[in-house]
Amino acid sequence: VGMRPTTYEGLAEPYRRLLDRAALAMEKAYAPYTGFCVGAAVLTREGELFAGANVETASYVGVCAEAAALAAAVEQGHYEIMALAVISRSRFYDVTRVAGPCGACRQLINEFAQVTGADIDVICAGTRKDPIVVAKLSALLPLSFGPVDTETDVSRYRR
Ligand SMILES: [Zn+2]
Repeated sequence: VGMRPTTYEGLAEPYRRLLDRAALAMEKAYAPYTGFCVGAAVLTREGELFAGANVETASYVGVCAEAAALAAAVEQGHYEIMALAVISRSRFYDVTRVAGPCGACRQLINEFAQVTGADIDVICAGTRKDPIVVAKLSALLPLSFGPVDTETDVSRYRR
Protein backbone atom coordinates (compact mmCIF):
# COMPACT_ATOMS: atom_id res chain seq x y z
CA VAL A 1 0.00 0.00 0.00
CA GLY A 2 1.37 3.40 -0.97
CA MET A 3 4.03 1.93 -3.26
CA ARG A 4 3.45 1.49 -6.95
CA PRO A 5 5.98 -0.23 -9.25
CA THR A 6 5.88 1.30 -12.71
CA THR A 7 7.92 2.08 -15.81
CA TYR A 8 9.20 5.31 -17.33
CA GLU A 9 6.32 5.22 -19.82
CA GLY A 10 3.93 4.59 -16.95
CA LEU A 11 4.87 7.88 -15.28
CA ALA A 12 2.78 11.00 -15.80
CA GLU A 13 4.58 13.60 -17.94
CA PRO A 14 5.50 15.94 -15.04
CA TYR A 15 7.05 13.00 -13.18
CA ARG A 16 8.98 11.95 -16.29
CA ARG A 17 10.40 15.48 -16.53
CA LEU A 18 11.22 15.41 -12.82
CA LEU A 19 13.07 12.10 -13.10
CA ASP A 20 14.95 13.31 -16.20
CA ARG A 21 16.06 16.40 -14.26
CA ALA A 22 17.26 14.15 -11.42
CA ALA A 23 19.20 12.00 -13.91
CA LEU A 24 20.88 15.12 -15.31
CA ALA A 25 21.94 16.14 -11.80
CA MET A 26 23.23 12.61 -11.14
CA GLU A 27 25.81 13.12 -13.89
CA LYS A 28 27.28 16.00 -11.85
CA ALA A 29 27.59 14.07 -8.57
CA TYR A 30 30.85 14.45 -6.65
CA ALA A 31 31.50 10.89 -5.52
CA PRO A 32 35.26 10.15 -5.71
CA TYR A 33 35.16 7.79 -2.69
CA THR A 34 32.24 5.46 -3.35
CA GLY A 35 31.61 6.04 -7.03
CA PHE A 36 27.91 6.00 -6.12
CA CYS A 37 26.31 8.93 -7.94
CA VAL A 38 22.86 10.16 -6.94
CA GLY A 39 20.66 12.82 -8.47
CA ALA A 40 17.42 14.20 -7.09
CA ALA A 41 14.86 16.76 -8.18
CA VAL A 42 11.85 18.34 -6.52
CA LEU A 43 8.66 19.64 -8.10
CA THR A 44 7.26 22.72 -6.38
CA ARG A 45 3.64 23.82 -6.11
CA GLU A 46 4.36 26.44 -8.78
CA GLY A 47 5.56 23.67 -11.12
CA GLU A 48 9.23 24.59 -10.91
CA LEU A 49 12.00 22.00 -10.72
CA PHE A 50 15.08 22.13 -8.51
CA ALA A 51 17.80 19.52 -8.57
CA GLY A 52 20.74 18.37 -6.51
CA ALA A 53 23.56 15.83 -6.63
CA ASN A 54 25.36 14.03 -3.82
CA VAL A 55 28.62 15.46 -2.50
CA GLU A 56 31.20 13.27 -0.73
CA THR A 57 34.26 14.34 1.26
CA ALA A 58 37.45 12.71 2.48
CA SER A 59 36.11 12.87 6.05
CA TYR A 60 32.97 10.91 5.02
CA VAL A 61 30.77 13.87 5.90
CA GLY A 62 28.64 14.39 2.84
CA VAL A 63 25.43 15.81 1.44
CA CYS A 64 22.69 13.69 -0.11
CA ALA A 65 21.23 14.60 -3.50
CA GLU A 66 17.74 14.89 -1.99
CA ALA A 67 18.98 17.35 0.65
CA ALA A 68 20.81 19.37 -2.02
CA ALA A 69 17.67 19.52 -4.19
CA LEU A 70 15.50 20.63 -1.27
CA ALA A 71 18.07 23.26 -0.29
CA ALA A 72 18.13 24.57 -3.86
CA ALA A 73 14.34 25.01 -3.76
CA VAL A 74 14.49 26.70 -0.36
CA GLU A 75 17.19 29.08 -1.53
CA GLN A 76 14.81 30.27 -4.26
CA GLY A 77 11.95 30.68 -1.79
CA HIS A 78 10.06 27.50 -2.71
CA TYR A 79 8.99 25.46 0.31
CA GLU A 80 5.91 23.63 -0.96
CA ILE A 81 7.10 20.39 -2.53
CA MET A 82 4.65 18.28 -4.54
CA ALA A 83 7.00 15.41 -5.49
CA LEU A 84 10.62 14.32 -5.34
CA ALA A 85 12.49 12.01 -7.72
CA VAL A 86 15.75 10.23 -6.95
CA ILE A 87 17.97 8.14 -9.23
CA SER A 88 21.38 6.57 -8.76
CA ARG A 89 24.19 4.87 -10.60
CA SER A 90 27.52 3.41 -9.66
CA ARG A 91 30.74 3.95 -11.56
CA PHE A 92 31.33 0.21 -11.10
CA TYR A 93 27.95 -1.41 -11.72
CA ASP A 94 24.42 -0.72 -12.88
CA VAL A 95 22.09 0.03 -10.01
CA THR A 96 19.38 -2.48 -10.82
CA ARG A 97 17.52 -2.31 -7.53
CA VAL A 98 15.49 0.77 -6.69
CA ALA A 99 17.22 2.73 -3.93
CA GLY A 100 14.99 5.01 -1.88
CA PRO A 101 16.04 8.07 0.12
CA CYS A 102 18.09 7.45 3.29
CA GLY A 103 16.46 7.87 6.67
CA ALA A 104 17.72 11.40 7.21
CA CYS A 105 16.38 12.48 3.82
CA ARG A 106 12.98 10.95 4.52
CA GLN A 107 12.83 13.25 7.55
CA LEU A 108 13.82 16.26 5.40
CA ILE A 109 11.20 15.39 2.77
CA ASN A 110 8.60 15.02 5.52
CA GLU A 111 9.36 18.53 6.75
CA PHE A 112 8.42 20.07 3.40
CA ALA A 113 5.56 17.67 2.75
CA GLN A 114 4.01 19.02 5.95
CA VAL A 115 4.62 22.59 4.77
CA THR A 116 2.75 21.60 1.60
CA GLY A 117 0.13 19.72 3.60
CA ALA A 118 0.19 16.72 1.28
CA ASP A 119 1.29 13.08 1.32
CA ILE A 120 3.70 13.62 -1.55
CA ASP A 121 4.95 11.15 -4.16
CA VAL A 122 8.58 10.01 -4.05
CA ILE A 123 9.72 8.60 -7.39
CA CYS A 124 12.62 6.17 -6.96
CA ALA A 125 14.52 4.77 -9.94
CA GLY A 126 17.47 2.55 -10.76
CA THR A 127 20.05 3.60 -13.31
CA ARG A 128 18.06 2.46 -16.34
CA LYS A 129 14.82 4.04 -15.06
CA ASP A 130 13.43 0.51 -14.99
CA PRO A 131 12.14 -0.47 -12.56
CA ILE A 132 10.67 2.64 -10.98
CA VAL A 133 8.72 2.79 -7.74
CA VAL A 134 6.34 5.65 -6.94
CA ALA A 135 5.95 5.69 -3.17
CA LYS A 136 3.83 7.88 -0.94
CA LEU A 137 5.96 9.55 1.72
CA SER A 138 3.66 8.02 4.36
CA ALA A 139 4.71 4.58 3.09
CA LEU A 140 8.41 5.49 3.34
CA LEU A 141 8.08 7.18 6.73
CA PRO A 142 5.13 5.83 8.70
CA LEU A 143 4.19 7.48 12.00
CA SER A 144 6.35 10.46 11.04
CA PHE A 145 7.38 13.34 13.26
CA GLY A 146 7.18 16.85 11.84
CA PRO A 147 6.11 20.44 12.40
CA VAL A 148 2.49 19.29 12.80
CA ASP A 149 3.47 17.29 15.89
CA THR A 150 5.12 20.27 17.57
CA GLU A 151 2.28 22.61 16.52
CA THR A 152 4.84 24.71 14.68
CA ASP A 153 3.27 27.32 12.42
CA VAL A 154 4.84 26.92 8.98
CA SER A 155 2.10 28.85 7.15
CA ARG A 156 4.48 31.73 6.34
CA TYR A 157 6.29 29.29 3.99
CA ARG A 158 3.13 28.71 1.96
CA ARG A 159 2.22 30.86 -0.99
ZN1 LIG B 1 19.94 10.97 2.19
